[in-house]
Amino acid sequence: MNQMKQLVIFSLIILTIGGCAKWGLNIFSDEDEVKLGMQLDQEIRKNPKEYPIYSGDPSVKEYIINNMFYPILNSPEIRKRNVYKYQLEILHDDSTLNAFATPGGFIYVYTGILKYLDSEAALAGVLAHEIAHSERRHATQNLTNYYGLSFLVSLVLGENPSDLAQIAGNLLTGLTFLANSRAFEDEADDYAIKYLLSTKFYPGGVKFFFEKLRDDKLIDSKPSQIRTFLSTHPDPIDRINVAEQRLRNLGIPIKTYKSTDSDLYRQSYQTYIRSKLR
Ligand SMILES: [Zn+2]
Repeated sequence: MNQMKQLVIFSLIILTIGGCAKWGLNIFSDEDEVKLGMQLDQEIRKNPKEYPIYSGDPSVKEYIINNMFYPILNSPEIRKRNVYKYQLEILHDDSTLNAFATPGGFIYVYTGILKYLDSEAALAGVLAHEIAHSERRHATQNLTNYYGLSFLVSLVLGENPSDLAQIAGNLLTGLTFLANSRAFEDEADDYAIKYLLSTKFYPGGVKFFFEKLRDDKLIDSKPSQIRTFLSTHPDPIDRINVAEQRLRNLGIPIKTYKSTDSDLYRQSYQTYIRSKLR
């Protein structure tokens, strides 16, 4: 091969790789997403100090899965229902108001946020948002941007198992694949409302958590309970406004987290979730 030809091919490879991160393309296949998610789940379970799995009343998780998680996943808008390994885990840390999604459909929610929310519609909003991060493959896009392609190719090939432990260790530092951009947050909120339209819950529940944080003056003062939330979910106030505009466009009335309408399911949230959490 002459030198000119080599140079052209080399430049094309660089352009393609550069373009991947820039345009949000993703080297991971759906199978890779699931494989990576399962490996991270094992890492999480190996590290109970950092990620204590909730071991209280099992009916809480069952109730959330059957009454919120599965109904959202049954939305006709969900594309990866039979491809990803959708599962929900509760992490026992009352001081963390957060939830997160790792690749391949693994969703984790902290007891801190479960105790803070006050309706099923609010929790359904949080879960739909995290499911949207999974469906839209935001975690592996963040991972690609943060670590670069060559590292990820070796990760996918399983060449260096300690890399996974390192990634799991960095999960919540806000530096790696959970640190979503404003664009990803926006996309996740948009899809979350679409998923919720086919459920019994008020679809505007996606904004309830932020409304409560705002009213409790937790956003500006940034106490430790929401620091990881803010680093992984930017611009909560702006997201309230954008969500309300989307609801208006869909002809859905604007309600707040304080509404006592039946489609928020406040009482059942108290009965089956809040009162059972220890
Ligand atoms: Zn998010």
